[in-house]
Amino acid sequence: TIEIDNLHKSFGPLEVLKGVSLKAYPGDVVAVIGGSGSGKSTMLRCINLLEVPSSGVIRIKGEAYELRKTRSGEMEPANRQQVQRIRAHLGMVFQSFNLWPHRTVLGNVTEVPIHVLGLSRDEAEARAIAYLERVGLGDKLQAWPSQLSGGQQQRAAIARVLAVDPHAMLLDEPTSALDPELVGEVLAVLRDLAQEKRTMVLVTHEMAFARDVASHVVYLRDGRIEEQGPPQQIFGAPQSPHLQQFLRSVS
Ligand code: ATP
Ligand code: MG
Repeated sequence: TIEIDNLHKSFGPLEVLKGVSLKAYPGDVVAVIGGSGSGKSTMLRCINLLEVPSSGVIRIKGEAYELRKTRSGEMEPANRQQVQRIRAHLGMVFQSFNLWPHRTVLGNVTEVPIHVLGLSRDEAEARAIAYLERVGLGDKLQAWPSQLSGGQQQRAAIARVLAVDPHAMLLDEPTSALDPELVGEVLAVLRDLAQEKRTMVLVTHEMAFARDVASHVVYLRDGRIEEQGPPQQIFGAPQSPHLQQFLRSVS
C-alpha cells in the first residue's frame, strides 16, 4: 500500500503540491492525469523521495518516511538507510529510459539484484532472463542500450524494475518519449502487468489506456486533486468543468 496524506511541496516560493492525499492498495493501478505543470511528476517523485515533501506524510507498506527540518527550514530525510530500504521496493520507470549505457541489457537488469539485494550472479541472471523474455527481449540480452529502439529500451527498463520484485511500480509517462509506432508494445507490457495485479502509480497522457487499465484515476490541477474516481466516472461522467475541458483538449 502507498498512502499519501496531505502532501505539500514547494520549490522556493513556488507551491507545487497543495495538499494531496491518495491511497494505492495492492493490485491497484492508479492513473494520474492532468495538464503540464500540475504537479504529477513532483507527486510521483515524492513517493520515492526523489523530492522531499515540504510537509505531509508518505507511507509505504505502513512505514512513514522519517523527515526532519534543516536549519534553513527545508525538509530532509532523517534516516538515509530507511530511504534506501524503502526505495529498493519501489521500481521507478521514467519517460527517458535511463538504462545504464555501459552495461548490456542483461547487465542492466542484474545490477541491483546482485549489488543491492545480494543475489548470486547465476540466480540474478536466471531471473533477469525470465523477465527479459517476458517483455519480449529474450534475444537482446547481450545488446547495448544504444543498439535498442526506444520501445525496446523502455521494455528493458520495465524488466529492470520487475527484477527487484517491487512492492509498487512508479511510472512517469513511460510512453511519451516514444515514436508513435512504438507506444503499443510498451502499453501491452504494462497492460499485462496490470492484469497480474501489480501495484502501479502511473502518470500518463494515454487516456484510452488509463480508461482501460486503471482501477482509479486522479485528476491533478494546479497542485490539488480536483477530481478522482473509477475510470468510468472520470472519463464517462466528469464533474469538474476543468476536467471536462482537459479531456476535450487531449482527445
Ligand atoms: P508535465 O506534464 O509537463 O510533465 P507535471 O504535472 O509533471 O508536468 P511537474 O514536473 O510536477 O509537473 O512540475 C510542477 C511545477 O513544479 C512546474 O511549475 C515546474 O516548473 C515546477 N518544478 C518541478 N520541479 C522543480 C524543481 N526541481 N525546481 C523548481 N521548480 C520545479
Ligand atoms: Mg511530468
